[in-house]
Amino acid sequence: MKKYIILFAILIFSTILLSGCAKKNDEKLDELAKIKRQGYITVGVKNDSIPFGYYVNGNLTGLDVEIARKIASNIFNDNSYQRVNFVPVNAQNRISMLNSGKIDIIVATMSVNDKRKMVVNFSTPYFTTSQKIMVRIGSKITNLNYFNDRGKLAVVMGTTGEKIAHVVAPNANVIGAKNYTQSAQMLANYKVDAILGDDCILKGIKAYNFKIINRAYSKEYYAVAVKKSDNSKELLNLINSTIVQLLDKKEINLIKSHYGI
Ligand code: GLU
Repeated sequence: MKKYIILFAILIFSTILLSGCAKKNDEKLDELAKIKRQGYITVGVKNDSIPFGYYVNGNLTGLDVEIARKIASNIFNDNSYQRVNFVPVNAQNRISMLNSGKIDIIVATMSVNDKRKMVVNFSTPYFTTSQKIMVRIGSKITNLNYFNDRGKLAVVMGTTGEKIAHVVAPNANVIGAKNYTQSAQMLANYKVDAILGDDCILKGIKAYNFKIINRAYSKEYYAVAVKKSDNSKELLNLINSTIVQLLDKKEINLIKSHYGI
């Protein structure tokens, strides 16, 4: 009898132990639960892309920054700015930063495309723009085809512009810039003859002697990216409802007009 009581006790004890472990593991894997438990969300944003992510008096600001704050306030049910830890990212490192766990989500002028869909999950788009070229005032260049047999074209590495340049002007001499600031310097210093990039970002780096040519080469839909995993489902649902809410209530228009977009 005593033997059975001991066996029964071991059975009960191990069941409790195992269910406890399973619960802990589930929580560990669920992205939203993990963020809630840690009390803050780490968001990858740009720091050189006016008006989406840039510094003002040492603080990150911009449309993407505002969207990240809305997502955080919906996750934590409060408006505390302390709940978001911003980490600057660029077009080349944002996906690896996400997938290696250095950031929880990307809100960084990131366009949805099929190649990226293979490695991240995207939210509902929150912003639409298109790719254009920017040249120096006085330039005779009016379209991308020009670069098929002449000149130098700058694109920021890791952006959709890189791909579009190769599709529209396959023979172009494409020069990769590490960021938008560098591409603008290259244009100003006659190192390149145009920059291909998102219209709204080009406006942010436009100098007095630059002009944007009004011909679009793509449609770009900006969306938030989360890890490509079933464990991100709850987080993605919450992000989507935040975006739908922003679009529905036309709150996004207020944010856009605040940043002159
Ligand atoms: N939206 C484009 C992209 O996702 C360019 C902007 C950026 O640098 O992120 O590649």
